[in-house]
Amino acid sequence: MKPTCMRCKHYKVEDAASGYCRAESALNADVNAKKVMVHHDHACQQWIDCGQNYYIRLGWLKARQNKQTADLRQ
Ligand code: SF4
Repeated sequence: MKPTCMRCKHYKVEDAASGYCRAESALNADVNAKKVMVHHDHACQQWIDCGQNYYIRLGWLKARQNKQTADLRQ
């Protein structure tokens, strides 16, 4: 298993290719600062396995993609 952001506990998926890193955002003292965005396949030393959440994220992305495809057909 490759340690990527998609498999990391600190990751929050935003769209089909990216999300934001809670660990990086937490380092910023300014709570109103822009969140730190990273790509699904990125990785760093702070990586922590998110376990089953990885499959939940994949399901969420797939459902979102299916909805967008259905919307385009209308
Ligand atoms: S940048 Fe590092 S800590 Fe943040 S989500 Fe990706 S692997 Fe996890």
